[in-house]
Amino acid sequence: MIDLHAHLAGMEENGKDISPEGQKELDLRREAGILTCFCGETPAQWELLKKIANRDHVLLSFGIHPWYADRYEVQSWRQEWSFCSILGEIGLDSVWCEVPLKLQEKQFQNQLQIAADLKKPVLLHTKGQEKRIGEMIKDFPGKVCVHWYSGEEKDLEPFLLKDCYFTLGPDTALLCGKGDAARKRLLKEAPGTRLFLETDGIGAVAWAFGKEEMELSRLPVVLKENLECAAFQKGLTPDQMERQMEENLREFLKS
Ligand SMILES: [Zn+2]
Repeated sequence: MIDLHAHLAGMEENGKDISPEGQKELDLRREAGILTCFCGETPAQWELLKKIANRDHVLLSFGIHPWYADRYEVQSWRQEWSFCSILGEIGLDSVWCEVPLKLQEKQFQNQLQIAADLKKPVLLHTKGQEKRIGEMIKDFPGKVCVHWYSGEEKDLEPFLLKDCYFTLGPDTALLCGKGDAARKRLLKEAPGTRLFLETDGIGAVAWAFGKEEMELSRLPVVLKENLECAAFQKGLTPDQMERQMEENLREFLKS
């Protein structure tokens, strides 16, 4: 299976090496056969992630997360982006973040430009700013993946029109079961050729299920549940959906 977006456990400590918890997660993911794109959301995290760049089953993405848009000057990291597969997560956040939106927009726009220059695909964080981001990416020439869309159903339109990719967040099966309108529309209207799975890391999985903590062993379980949910919505078997997602990754990473 592919987990297109995850934060490795223990990264928040910003140590000099991958934490023991992070090592444990890497082992578990390799044993479960999960190809994971780990995300560095700050330059410090990116430095750590580069240490695992050559491992099997590992892809890397790097972007200045909107939460840290006031701490780093995007242009000074320009060189670093040549080494990642995906530029992100980048975007805007007016729900969980107090960095002024004007500054977030500037940093986001600069990173979109770098992605366009380097012909890299981008992964977007759109929390509370779905409408604005839909406008801002209109002329972006590369491939776009919207990470864990949680906006309103009506704001999905520009992303569907732009033929974006979407990662299904860890709560996808849970919310589809509850009849969530945006999630159902996304799964109905985004073609199977544009879908991925993601966990966003174990902390996010715990959050999605209303828990303080969660065992790392839940990661493959959640991916499998959401794979089955996506397959069902698309009229495919889970095996067919899995193969489709592998094909989607090849397409998405083509510059
Ligand atoms: Zn994330």
